[in-house]
Parts: sequence; structure tokens; C-alpha cells
Amino acid sequence: MSLAKTEKAFLEYLKEQNALREAITLIQWDLRTKIPKKGVEQRSEVVGYLSQKLHQMQVSNEIKGFIDELKGQTQDEVIQKSVLECEETYEKNRKIPEVEFKEYVMLQSKGEAVWQEAREKADFAMFQPYLEKLVDYNKKFANYWGYKENIYDALLNNYEPGVTVKTLDEVFPKVRKSLTALLEKIEASSVRPDTTLLSTYFPKDSQKALSVDILNRMGYDWDAGRLDDTIHPFEITVNLNDVRITTRYDEQDFRMAVFGIIHEAGHALYEQNIDKKLEGTPLASGTSMGIHESQSLFWENFLGRNKIFWESHYDLFKKYAPSHFNKIPLQDFYHAVNEVKPSFIRIEADELTYPLHIMVRYELEKALINSEIEVKDLPHLWNEKMGEYLGIKPTSDREGVLQDIHWAGGDFGYFPSYALGYMYAAQFEHKMREKVDIEKVIRSGDFSSIRNWMTDNIHQYGKMKKPLDILHDVTGEGLNPDYLVKYLTTKYQDIYQF
Ligand code: ZN
Repeated sequence: MSLAKTEKAFLEYLKEQNALREAITLIQWDLRTKIPKKGVEQRSEVVGYLSQKLHQMQVSNEIKGFIDELKGQTQDEVIQKSVLECEETYEKNRKIPEVEFKEYVMLQSKGEAVWQEAREKADFAMFQPYLEKLVDYNKKFANYWGYKENIYDALLNNYEPGVTVKTLDEVFPKVRKSLTALLEKIEASSVRPDTTLLSTYFPKDSQKALSVDILNRMGYDWDAGRLDDTIHPFEITVNLNDVRITTRYDEQDFRMAVFGIIHEAGHALYEQNIDKKLEGTPLASGTSMGIHESQSLFWENFLGRNKIFWESHYDLFKKYAPSHFNKIPLQDFYHAVNEVKPSFIRIEADELTYPLHIMVRYELEKALINSEIEVKDLPHLWNEKMGEYLGIKPTSDREGVLQDIHWAGGDFGYFPSYALGYMYAAQFEHKMREKVDIEKVIRSGDFSSIRNWMTDNIHQYGKMKKPLDILHDVTGEGLNPDYLVKYLTTKYQDIYQF
């Protein structure tokens, strides 16, 4: 076959894979938002079937043939990068024996179900045998995939390629030291924001109307997306013209939905603004978990919890909010939405203590994968670390080690991306200032120049660039936590007056 013909056949093959991926994604969205309870079981089987088909295509002899013929041969950059992406997936999946892969997939879904019950009952012992198996599988897989220095690097590579234990062990302790020092100053301050003033009945429809207004300003494209209700909020990309977000409303606390929607829309803007020429290839998605989180956290925290944002948008907020807020001075409101208070649950944590939660889990999972600790010791070690880093100790495993679903689904190596994303966001923000007057843009209420900067520098590339290449191309440096520390210090010095 001529090169041109092979390229065409390869793209057709990718399209077929993509059709399966798109069907699976849409079914997953439905499973998490709309499906009636009784339909779940049969539907899960359908997902399993389609996933298996996709998996087979990713490790087939046919795809291997395309990789061998096209790698280094094609002049087309999109095809070349797609080939490399397919090769990575091929190598990774081929290294795992099919029997083990199947067992593992079953263990994941069983693990999640048991975790759910164990969490409700705050009973770690119930989950322990499943977690032990999940850890064993991950160690095995990491060895199949291979690594240079630390076995945990093989798992990190699945979520944040290029980042290693060596980097994290340099950066995280530095950040932790700065944040705990800040936390001490905040705790010593006499300023005490009153968050009770935020709790009042705020009808769901009004919260939604406010959020939609904010999304319009952010530039979320409603012709290429939608907003639905769910229990656990998420963003999901069916294709680049169908990027959906979901949220959960608490009518006594608007923060969950409003900040949650801004967060998920930050993820969605990334996906909606990927270059459409990548559609149908494995490159049509955000490049990594960390870069994705940099986008959501940038919109949620750097803009959504920004002082100037509230100075210029408090009237907009009051337009939708109950009259209760008319009595609350802006300053008190701003302080309340930025309260710092160590708490047990990561997803409810404030901006400052959030990275500390990530570090607790990172250190434990790194030690688990390196066989330095045992699963049975986790609850006790978790509580100890929470005491050490955040100064509080959970009284039950529900608010301790059992709180997040990640391990139950076998996701080891995923957690650091949350903290990395936060550091990337601060680095991007610093760089953006050279070209964009961020405060002026926030006051104007038209965020397009911020969004365009993100699209030009990050969004458009999809997976054409690896995360650390994007970081380097945009900022001229590697991972640097100083910008995050500086941002948090400046912000909280102002709020807590130290
Ligand atoms: Zn997120």
C-alpha cells in the first residue's frame, strides 16, 4: 500500500475506535445522570462489551501494522502524533496478560461497590481485602510497564507523563512547609470570617440562573454542551462539539453548585477549544489530568474566588440571590467564601489546605506501592498524617481514609495531578499577566481575552503536546511551586491581615 493509502486507512481505523469511545462516553454520562435504577445492570454490561471491543482494537495486529508502517514515515504531524499515542496505548495494554486485565476490571467494579458500603458504615476492614488486591495488581502492572527509578513512576505516567517521584519529593515538601507556616499565621490571626452568613435558603432555580449567567461570561458554548444534575459533579467530553458538565445543588449552601459549575466549566472550556482538526483522533482531549485541573482551578479559584471578581460581580450575584444577602457587606461576603479552616474532607477543603490533603494521600500511596507499608495500617497512618499536616484527626474512617473513590477504582498515581494542576495554574496566571490585564478583564465581566490566552497557549493543542512541554513552552520553566505559594500568601495576608 502507498503511504497515502495507509494514512487514509489508519485514520479510518481511528474513526472506528472513536465511534466506540463516543458511544461509551455517552452511556457513561447517562449512567451518572439520567438512567432509571433498574436499567443500570444491563447498561453496565453494554459498557463492558463496548469497552472490550475498543480494547481489542487498541491491541490488534492491525493497529500494530499501522504503527510499524507509519511511525517516522508520515509527514503529517497529526498522524505522526496519533501513531505515537496509539503505540503508547498498544504497548501499555499488550504488556498486561488478558486474563489479568479481565480480573482487574471485575475487581475495580466490585471494589467500588464494596467501598461505597464500607464508607457508609465507616468500616475499613470490609474494604481492606479488596484494596489489598487492587494494590497488588497495580504493583504488578507497574512492573510490567517498567520504570527507571521508582515503581510509583510507572503509575504516575498514566496521568501525568514526565512527572516523577523525584520531582514530587522535591516540590511537595517545599509547598507543605510554606502552607503550614501560612496556616499557623492564619490561625493566630484575630480575623475570623463568619461563614454562617452564607447559609440561607437559595432556591435551586436561582442558583442555576446565576451559574448560567457566569458561564455565559466565561464563554461556555451552549451549542456544544449542556448542564445537568448529578450526585458527583463532573465534565465529560462526548466529542469536541458535545462537552457536558453536571452539578449538584445544596439549597442551604450556594457554594457547592456555583463554584462547582465554574470549576467544571473550566474543564469544559479546555475541551471545547481544542483544535477541531484533531477530532476523530486520540489527540482530541486534554493532555493530562494535571493540565486539566490547572484550567478548572484557575477559573474556580484564581477568578471565581478573586476579590475583584466579587467587587465587580456582587450586584450580579444579588440579582439572583435571596434578599438575605442585601444585608451582607461585600467585605464580609468575600471573607466568608475564602475562609481557611482545616477540615477532614478533601473536596470541601479551602484553597490553602487543599494541597495538604493531596500530599497525605500521595505519601501513603507511594509507600503502599513501594511495599513500605501495609494496607491494614492505612486508617491509623492516615489519621496520623492528617494530624501532622492539618492539625486535625478524623474520628471515623468515613471522614478519613475511606472518603475518596479513587483507590476503590484502582486509580493509584492520579492524586498528585490535583496539586500539580494548582501549581501549573499559578504559573500560567503569572505568565498571562505579561499580556493580559487580568484585573481589568475581571472588572469588565467579559472574560474572552483570558479564555483566548488559554486557548492560544494550551487548549488548542489537545494531546499534541505533553504536559511538561506545554508548561515549558508557555512559561519558559519547569514545575515551580513558588508562584502558587506567592499567590496564596498575598491573598491570605490581605484577608487575615498578617
Ligand atoms: Zn476538576
